[in-house]
Amino acid sequence: VFSMDGDIVDLPALVALGKKYHLLTMIDEAHATGVIGKTGHGTVEHFGNTVRPDILMGTLSKALGAEGGYACASKVIIEYLKNKARSFIFATSQTPATLAAALRATEVLEEEPQRAQMLQHNVKFFLNALHAEGVEAYSPTAIIPIIIGDEKSALQVADELLANGVLAPAIRYPTVAKGTARLRVALMATHTEAELSQTAKLIGTAIRKYKK
Ligand SMILES: *Cc1c(COP(=O)(O)O)cnc(C)c1O
Repeated sequence: VFSMDGDIVDLPALVALGKKYHLLTMIDEAHATGVIGKTGHGTVEHFGNTVRPDILMGTLSKALGAEGGYACASKVIIEYLKNKARSFIFATSQTPATLAAALRATEVLEEEPQRAQMLQHNVKFFLNALHAEGVEAYSPTAIIPIIIGDEKSALQVADELLANGVLAPAIRYPTVAKGTARLRVALMATHTEAELSQTAKLIGTAIRKYKK
């Protein structure tokens, strides 16, 4: 899941390219773990568990709410990483407390897949609410970019939202291409429909006021 547009890599196509050209494929699940896939298992599950990359790495610091990360791959690759990965050499390991939190979070994800499903519901609900406000937006994940274009307008919209209790930061060049300054909305499973409708209204109003 790309962190600024919230779109999803075409994993079957990526893996096919890797096979064709004898390349290893790797995906970063930072914004996919706990978010996409029927039970929140991420990109591989999103594509029906039909293909997998050679290396799947992710973080425990986003949906799982802890700290640290992981890499899944063949034994050979994992042995190689243990011996060569820069971040593994001379670094102190994570604390037991953060690991315990991460471990429990993965268990909660298994026990309560409805949390990921709630989030997926909220994405659809919020996009519909934005469209009803005449605001163009599209995303299959919890990261929803709303393109404003010009930097100053994006900042004005973000400031007005913040003054109304909504944190939707303005993302500008060089994080995104020039002329595509945007609001970056990140949804949670625990947002209520009332909060989402209200936020869509505030965004519509601020955009009508400031967008050039
Ligand atoms: C947050 C993030 C990471 C890694 O996060 P850590 O803070 O190192 O746990 C990796 N990739 C992407 C795309 C991210 O957004």
